[in-house]
Amino acid sequence: MHDLAVVGAGPVGSYLASLCAGRMDTIVLEEHDGAGGKACSGLVSPRFIEMIPKKVKGAVIDHEVKGAKITFMGTTLEFRKNDTAAYVVNRGLMDRMLAEHASDCGADVRFGEKVMRADQTQEKVRLWTPKHDFESSFAAGCDGAGSAVSRMIGGNAPEVLNGLIIHQKKDDFSDTVEMWFDKSLVKDGFFWKIPRGSTTEYGCIGYRLSFPILEKFFSLEHSDASERSAAPVPIGIKKTHENRAILVGDAASQTKPWSGGGLAYGFLAAKEASEIIANAVRNGDASKLSLYEAAWKRIMLKDISAGLMLREIYRDLDLSAITSFMDRAESLKKESERIDFDFPFSSALGRL
Ligand SMILES: Cc1cc2nc3c(=O)[nH]c(=O)nc-3n(C[C@H](O)[C@H](O)[C@H](O)COP(=O)(O)OP(=O)(O)OC[C@H]3O[C@@H](n4cnc5c(N)ncnc54)[C@H](O)[C@@H]3O)c2cc1C
Repeated sequence: MHDLAVVGAGPVGSYLASLCAGRMDTIVLEEHDGAGGKACSGLVSPRFIEMIPKKVKGAVIDHEVKGAKITFMGTTLEFRKNDTAAYVVNRGLMDRMLAEHASDCGADVRFGEKVMRADQTQEKVRLWTPKHDFESSFAAGCDGAGSAVSRMIGGNAPEVLNGLIIHQKKDDFSDTVEMWFDKSLVKDGFFWKIPRGSTTEYGCIGYRLSFPILEKFFSLEHSDASERSAAPVPIGIKKTHENRAILVGDAASQTKPWSGGGLAYGFLAAKEASEIIANAVRNGDASKLSLYEAAWKRIMLKDISAGLMLREIYRDLDLSAITSFMDRAESLKKESERIDFDFPFSSALGRL
């Protein structure tokens, strides 16, 4: 029997496994034959970059950005920092390197093992894949939006948005990310353009979106071959612990309700989880896992809740309210340096 079974070798599962492997017998079960392949912009904060291993950091950064241009119904606001505001990383390569790193740290990473069913007793967790049965003292569901471990715990994501991206082979070395909010096209989402150096990314997030909508917005209908990908984005607050199992990352909906960004929150939660699981293993005491929910909420609940509230308000705003909001937001431009990309509401935006 293993001490810990991590379900999912996405970035959060691999990172958690690398933090736990030296301290307990850790197995990772990943449904695909390798890591990587998820649709993701890979736009991350300097805080996130500091958390990934040095070797990975050196290889995966494609580009750096210093500012953002945000257009709400025709009015544009620009925020700039003197230093790097965010990094654009190669997500596929990062996932593969993080899985390798987990393995180097001593985790037993098994590909081609899709967990179909999970259950738990007072003594252990059992996981079934089409090939094998596994038993562990504890389980961490890092298996994303459709988490099998979450089904066992009984908590679905309160809302699931859709994220779509198109990568075009077109140089873009600008240092500014652009975002457009247009309620006539996406009621509570937005479009974006991200410079990636040797490629350009066009994307959108929200409900009922499709590639024709994205292509039409950026006039890409007749453009040359490009790479498209899409994935669900879970948002909202849900149950993340029961008995011997916890959820981390997208499986726990630890995402920013506006952008859907989940890498920094997933890693911060994984750090907390690794300490709590190590304590439970050391003491042979499953009740220690109950500390997890409060631990991750202490870090991000305020910003997640504020983001959810703002989504609700934005849905009902009319044009005059948006104009007044933009007037107030204008005053925040001089505070650009203080806006924290991961915790916008705890930092300067909260005052808005
Ligand atoms: C279009 C788009 C753009 C995004 N852009 C950004 C961004 O710029 N910045 C940012 O921070 N976030 C972004 N995100 C969100 C980010 O991609 C997620 O928050 C992140 O992938 C969460 O990592 P994770 O490891 O928790 O889950 P995932 O990356 O979803 O990994 C889950 C892993 O579990 C495996 N798995 C699933 N089910 C099972 C099973 N039953 N058995 C075994 N294995 C299983 C999957 O194969 C996968 O490898 C974006 C998302 C989308 C859709």
